[in-house]
Amino acid sequence: MARIETPKRIRGTQDIFGEEQRRFATVMDAFDRVRRLYCFQRLEIPIFEATNVFARSMGETSDVVSKEMYTFEDRGGDSITLRPEFTAGIARAYITEGWQQYAPLKLATSGPVFRYERPQKGRFRQFHQIDAEVIGAPEPAADVELLVLADQLLHDLGIHEGVTLQLNTLGDAETRDAWRAALVAHFEAHRDQLSQDSLTRLEKNPMRILDSKDPGDRAVADSAPDIDAYLTQEAASFFKAVTDGLDAAGVAWTRNSRLVRGLDYYRHTAFEFVTDRLGAQGTVLAGGRYDGLIGSLGGPETAGVGWAAGVERLAMLIEEPAGEKPVVILAVEDDLALADAQRLLKEIRTAGLSADMIATGSPRKRYDKAAKVNAKVLVSISRKEERTVINTRSAIPSAEHDQVEQIAARLLEHRR
Ligand code: ATP
Ligand code: MG
Repeated sequence: MARIETPKRIRGTQDIFGEEQRRFATVMDAFDRVRRLYCFQRLEIPIFEATNVFARSMGETSDVVSKEMYTFEDRGGDSITLRPEFTAGIARAYITEGWQQYAPLKLATSGPVFRYERPQKGRFRQFHQIDAEVIGAPEPAADVELLVLADQLLHDLGIHEGVTLQLNTLGDAETRDAWRAALVAHFEAHRDQLSQDSLTRLEKNPMRILDSKDPGDRAVADSAPDIDAYLTQEAASFFKAVTDGLDAAGVAWTRNSRLVRGLDYYRHTAFEFVTDRLGAQGTVLAGGRYDGLIGSLGGPETAGVGWAAGVERLAMLIEEPAGEKPVVILAVEDDLALADAQRLLKEIRTAGLSADMIATGSPRKRYDKAAKVNAKVLVSISRKEERTVINTRSAIPSAEHDQVEQIAARLLEHRR
């Protein structure tokens, strides 16, 4: 007889459950708390967009667009791509929804993103990002605001210790053009040492050679000229305003003059928060300023700066969160008390206390089972002389205990 083949999880996707889920939720809760503290508005955007939204915004030569996108034709024949990041979709939304009227906008979003990569620890094909952007604010204070937010998030998650903020500037257009010319000259002089990928980058996007992961490229990349010699007065003072702001807010940072963002519309600040605890997947949060992006997509010239962080990578770094348990646990010691138990449970929950009950298995064992839950308040409900009896108990006096007692007393009062 033919065996039915069981369904398989798609490679690089995850079923997030138990401890992993609690870690995930801890990161999401912290992000939501911190984005409120910094007055970033929550935003939801589509999971898929027209392919050219990402292709034009992330650049045809980027790793993501050239080899990592989930692209398909829908039934109407349109080319659709599952979002590999948030920034492009947010820029598209800003243009199509006419959000200039609200600028400057501080936005926060999160959710699944998709990249066709080789799955490994901390690298998935469907993973999750949290994302923060400031649109329509050309001043360095916006970069500072985003970095201070990111730093506080890492603090709140308790992973600040092993994580370093690496910071660089890509300067303004003039700086960038001059530096790029110097880089091209350097790479041309060392063509014979570059990988095939980097030779392609040299044609299309030479700055990207600086963040090549190919060990063979590293020597040439590391000996490339620094941007500092090419910084205009204006670009230097922008960068100083960012670092002064970070110093004022007490955010530690280090300069990494090799850190780049590849595309032409990136300007000024580029940064990554990096840990040495996740091997090759060490970047937990990354971003920068992209003043030319919205204009290059056909929208009004609009400044922008933002970052994204991998939820799974942050979740792996935090301490194991405590398991969830109810504040109140109810042992139903007599099946005849079930209806009263259900009513009591409803009222406890309506009052805002989490509660669960144990009403199956041998009635004599239910109390012990409930006690093992270790809830703040243990309630037993039984019958004596055709009447419902409710007992509440807790290890230490608490407001919740008093609250449950009052609810129970009211219920018994009504019974009479
Ligand atoms: P990497 O260098 O690790 O490939 P990236 O430069 O492609 O990262 P970004 O596009 O800047 O990453 O995305 C922001 C963050 O999303 C990263 O810092 C990382 O924490 C997370 N991230 C990126 N790709 C993955 C993935 N495939 N699985 C899980 N998390 C990821
Ligand atoms: Mg990548």
